[in-house]
Amino acid sequence: MIMIEDIFENMEYGPALEDASVAYEWLSEHKPGFGHWIGGRWTAPTRDFRSINPANGEFLADLSQATQNEVGRATEAARSALKEWQSLSGSQRGRHLYAIARQIQKHARLFSVLETLDNGKPIRESRDIDIPLVSRHFYHHAGWASLVENEFSGSEALGVVGQIIPWNFPLLMLAWKVAPALAAGNTVVLKPAEYTSLTSLLFAEIAHRSGLPAGVLNIVTGDGEVGRFIVDQPGIDKIAFTGSTEVGREIRRTTAGSGKALTLELGGKSPFVVFSDADLDSAVEGVVDAIWFNQGEVCCAGSRLLVQESIADKFEKKLKRRMNSLRVGAPLDKAIDMGAIVDKTQLEKITNYVEIGKKEGGSCWQSDVELPNQGCFYPPTLFTGIEPSHTIACDEIFGPVLAMLVFRTHDEAVAMANNTHYGLAASVWSENINLALHVAAKLKAGVVWINSTNQFDAASGFGGYRESGFGREGGVEGLWAYRRAPADQPPDNIVMPEPRQDCISPREPSLLDKTAKMYIGGRQIRPDSGYYRSIKNKRSQLIGDIGEGNRKDIRNAVEAANLATGWSQLNGHGRAQILYFLAENLETRSKEFANRLVEFEIKNALEEVQASIDRIFWYGGWSDKYEGSIHQGPVGQMVLALPEPIGVAGLVCPDDAPLLAMVSLLCPLIAMGNTVVLIPSELCPLVATDFYQLLETSDIPPGVVNIVTGSKNLLAPVLSEHYEVDVVWMAGDKYLGKTIEELSVGNLKQTWITRGARDWFDPSISQGREFLRRATQVKNLWVPYGE
Ligand code: NDP
Repeated sequence: MIMIEDIFENMEYGPALEDASVAYEWLSEHKPGFGHWIGGRWTAPTRDFRSINPANGEFLADLSQATQNEVGRATEAARSALKEWQSLSGSQRGRHLYAIARQIQKHARLFSVLETLDNGKPIRESRDIDIPLVSRHFYHHAGWASLVENEFSGSEALGVVGQIIPWNFPLLMLAWKVAPALAAGNTVVLKPAEYTSLTSLLFAEIAHRSGLPAGVLNIVTGDGEVGRFIVDQPGIDKIAFTGSTEVGREIRRTTAGSGKALTLELGGKSPFVVFSDADLDSAVEGVVDAIWFNQGEVCCAGSRLLVQESIADKFEKKLKRRMNSLRVGAPLDKAIDMGAIVDKTQLEKITNYVEIGKKEGGSCWQSDVELPNQGCFYPPTLFTGIEPSHTIACDEIFGPVLAMLVFRTHDEAVAMANNTHYGLAASVWSENINLALHVAAKLKAGVVWINSTNQFDAASGFGGYRESGFGREGGVEGLWAYRRAPADQPPDNIVMPEPRQDCISPREPSLLDKTAKMYIGGRQIRPDSGYYRSIKNKRSQLIGDIGEGNRKDIRNAVEAANLATGWSQLNGHGRAQILYFLAENLETRSKEFANRLVEFEIKNALEEVQASIDRIFWYGGWSDKYEGSIHQGPVGQMVLALPEPIGVAGLVCPDDAPLLAMVSLLCPLIAMGNTVVLIPSELCPLVATDFYQLLETSDIPPGVVNIVTGSKNLLAPVLSEHYEVDVVWMAGDKYLGKTIEELSVGNLKQTWITRGARDWFDPSISQGREFLRRATQVKNLWVPYGE
């Protein structure tokens, strides 16, 4: 007798191919091939390269390689369209985005089939994940477009945005870039990846048909060279890039000093941590989703599986059993789990990594799956018996290869999870919510999923820490990446307050001999060089001597800042109390500080001290109020968007308003829990060396603020290339700003270089949420709830 359960075990899958005719019809309508989409029309196709279906090698379309001139024309079209686009009300722009979202839904089958043909991903994923997320993104941002005028008042759109996207989620990456850019009032020049341009071109055509004004969106196709043209193009105000860390570095270097805004969404080697009390069957399904979704070609793929030792064997067995049931094959088959790798170059790269893994001593296990005999396919692969230092445990492979490692304690799990240059995402599995949240808080990653993985939503930001890049896509923080906060440049007609120096006494000549030290790790330290420099005022009067800091002093200061980790763990209330105390102490010694400023011929000295006290108070007020938000994620998920400190900040202070500028930049950083290495004004450094006496008496823990005096040109580059500095801010000097940006590429640290001089007295431009936003990075923590 045949039992039903036997049938379930033995039943063969029949083919369940999605009908692709709609996509072939669209392709045949563009038979001579595709040109670029510039200013609302096609350019003549030049048929420079071909789009190929990686599942079977089939030719799909001829495409054109954009020239520098064509990128220039696309930029001009975007610039010309800017005026009309920005003259629309937010609500009118919103209607355009809404129309696009509707059109995507109406053409969902065409988009998903075309995406699968071009990229090789399973239709199940393009149909049920990519395309629905694309329309969700445009709906969400249609709403934002109509809210921007009120919710982002006081800021402006950046202008023309150059966007460069990869091949792994071609249309979804376009949506993540185009929707917020347009909602925020910008126009766009976008380059899709060479392997996967087709859905971007279809999108351009459909957006045009939906009424999007000509020039608002321009698409140029071609290889990395076209990406370079966009990056170099003078008329572009911002570059938004998703792709490899290597190219991200190149773009950072090239845009240094250009004034172009930049966001980078780069690679990852994300940990997937399974504790012994996890629901193991769910965790196995999680792993399948983490590393075999989209063939593992996912920047946030959970490619490092960390399993607690006590359950490691059991988990490995369950996982292998599940791997054997995964089906790899024709991407258009609706019952396929994994489709084709995007191209044979990527397939070779994966194969090479697997060989390296074997050579380094790892044990490689591949599921017993039948692969199609043509096309770019690779089986689900698991490596065990490897060390954290092995290449396959460190490098982003971007394929279906999982590296499994074992940990014993909770602390070891955190240490191993954070043992990477990247910091894009992480997944934590435990039935103990206390443990899961405890670990999630310690992970250095922009997104953490608890008992889930690869969840995305337009309302929640996505983006990395460390070498996974900076900036967020999605959520309100993603929109800020397309707006400019109040202009950095002060207006020409700043009226400075009249000097009031009635209570200022002349300096005691005996103070001349006092030599100011540096301040590192809470101690007053002599410079490593043993050299000092004399500080004079504008009339060449000698005011005092300061230490000539060098490379070693910066290294010591960074080390001290790194050790002061308790500061970030202190709650906002605690930090507020300390900032209030600092303000109080400055007030007590306000005349002394004003006298110091007067020595340097600074006219409105008393006002500057008073404004500094107010500013410290203001950031003290924000210490326990600049909080995150909770997004309602997809059903059963809430997303906690938590602003976290970035880490160790390098701060290069300007010469104008030396006390007020220093306080204006330092206070938001420490209020948000960062520790700081500060290079004070070179002209008036004594104000900073006086200031450390306040730090000492205001309960600021050692190492939270470190002050190294000396030459900015010498010290700022050392800070900028230091691997343990996470962010550098500098105000004023655009030439030094270029150097800082160039040197930041090593660990891809964030930088904030403000243009020219600014009126530090004007709170509307020199104090505000912009400073707090830049002093933090948002971690999005996905927490499931319900039964
Ligand atoms: P790249 O970083 O090379 O490509 C991303 C995009 O940038 C593509 O549109 C590419 O064009 C373009 N590009 C390439 N070189 C330059 C350049 N010098 N200046 C400007 N733009 C450029 O990634 P790949 O596609 O080559 O993939 C390589 C590796 O990168 C993958 O194996 C994976 O590790 C990682 N990656 C990470 C992604 C992520 O989401 N974090 C996404 C994709 C890849 P074109 O493709 O046409 O050459």
